Amino acid sequence: MATQESRVLYKCPICLRCSDTQDFCHQHQMVRCEMGEPGDESTQPVQASDGRVLTHAPRWWVMAVWKMARRAGGHLQRTIKTNRG
Ligand SMILES: [Zn+2]
Repeated sequence: MATQESRVLYKCPICLRCSDTQDFCHQHQMVRCEMGEPGDESTQPVQASDGRVLTHAPRWWVMAVWKMARRAGGHLQRTIKTNRG
């Protein structure tokens, strides 16, 4: 059984641009996303315990954005408002 490394990519949370390296986009570092193996639980949408789908984004994306938002505090919210304005 081969041991595969987790698939990793970097995404801008504003425009969703993808990169193999952690570039800067929209004035902050792109978010590191660990996508897991194809078909892994982390590739599924986030669901409530009753089966309701809470996000249509895969779990790996939600976790990556959550981690980044916790690190960045209010910076992300300000950046999103600025870019949508
Ligand atoms: Zn961007």
